[in-house]
Amino acid sequence: MATDTTTTDVDIAVVGGGIGGLTLALALRERGIDAEVFEQADELREVGAAVALAANGTRILERLGLGDELAAASVVPTELQYRHWRSGTVLAGHPIGAEYARRFGGPFWGIHRASLQRTLSTAWGPERLHLGWCLTGIADGPDGVRLEFGGDRTVRARVVVGADGVRSAVRGYIGGGAPVYSGTSGFRGIVPTGALPSLPAPRAVQFWVGPGAHLLHYAVGETVNFLAVLDGPAEWPHAAGLGEAGPGELDAAFAQWHPAVREMVAAVPQSPRWGLFVLPPPPRWSRGRAVLLGDAAHAMLPHHGQGANQTIEDATVLARCLADTGPQGYGTAFGRYERLRRARTRAVQRAAWDTSAALHLPDGPDAAARDERLRALDGWLGWIHGHDADAAADALTDARR
Ligand SMILES: Cc1cc2nc3c(=O)[nH]c(=O)nc-3n(C[C@H](O)[C@H](O)[C@H](O)COP(=O)(O)OP(=O)(O)OC[C@H]3O[C@@H](n4cnc5c(N)ncnc54)[C@H](O)[C@@H]3O)c2cc1C
Repeated sequence: MATDTTTTDVDIAVVGGGIGGLTLALALRERGIDAEVFEQADELREVGAAVALAANGTRILERLGLGDELAAASVVPTELQYRHWRSGTVLAGHPIGAEYARRFGGPFWGIHRASLQRTLSTAWGPERLHLGWCLTGIADGPDGVRLEFGGDRTVRARVVVGADGVRSAVRGYIGGGAPVYSGTSGFRGIVPTGALPSLPAPRAVQFWVGPGAHLLHYAVGETVNFLAVLDGPAEWPHAAGLGEAGPGELDAAFAQWHPAVREMVAAVPQSPRWGLFVLPPPPRWSRGRAVLLGDAAHAMLPHHGQGANQTIEDATVLARCLADTGPQGYGTAFGRYERLRRARTRAVQRAAWDTSAALHLPDGPDAAARDERLRALDGWLGWIHGHDADAAADALTDARR
């Protein structure tokens, strides 16, 4: 970074060193553009156990040269299965593995968030990753956007990317609504597979679906990572996404469910309750020299396992657009980026929202119609997992030459 006594000058400042910020930095570097990443935390630590990466995300990570390392740390599930909440009957099942990778252009991985974070940050290296830098102020100027990080730390950047998550400070500057509570909440846990004697197909990704709730799990190493989602509470009483739950509330919610589900939720101490929020699309993704990426632009419900995957898609597309124009052509680059990403992320966000209700239907004709849709993978998820974000960006930018 070039510095004078008060201000540091950078070309591209990425605010947030999460999955999106680091993937963007790597994708920019791959295209010959340097960036500086500013992360508020003093050390990178991922909350929330594990993450499922689908072909639309893994194909990009493979292209960035991270495939071998991530594959070694991941579990490829045997199948994607939807099961009846009480009987355990398979309502729909789709093999994952070589056939999935061939069909959708990349593997499906279950991976600890810490492993993913470590791979990304190691690949990026420490020199341009500034830990303990929390963005507190932002203002545009004729020769760059001025970023304040507390104390006397100020950065002037030609371009700033807000990859700073659901409570984004950059979004506050660009304009956009506050997070919206979905009326649902989740509990998470990691259970040794050996503690689940009733669990059929322990290495499959499984959704157990029933009235007012569902439970998703997948294998990570010799453990099973689960997310249990319940309707309610009707209002979210806490300031942030994490809140308390009454003693035994999770066990009680699943008391009538299949033994495998009961074993899973009983095997770990009850986690805090996660309020599930979305961020509606802002009127515009950029303002002047600032642009949004990932959860800061479109935080979504986790029911298609797509928040991180969409963030990775954003990163490769924004890098492609900025490489095409150069950082000085940011206005054109931001316009193309938004054109490529707005409709896609909105469609996935909506689908995840609608899925919440569909997975919580009581037994009956509506549930039977849903099961029919679940059995058609291409119709249900293929449009999400098969999307090639790089090819879409190439097509648009090549057409504009
Ligand atoms: C329960 C649950 C389960 C999920 N499961 C999946 C899944 O299976 N698959 C999937 O694809 N997605 C999943 N997601 C979504 C996924 O975790 C997010 O979409 C993804 O992490 C978004 O990445 P991001 O980089 O945009 O934001 P984040 O990962 O939130 O990173 C933002 C970073 O910015 C930093 N930051 C914030 N403010 C500032 C500031 N002012 N200054 C500097 N730095 C700042 C933060 O410290 C953080 O490091 C799940 C989400 C939830 C809640």
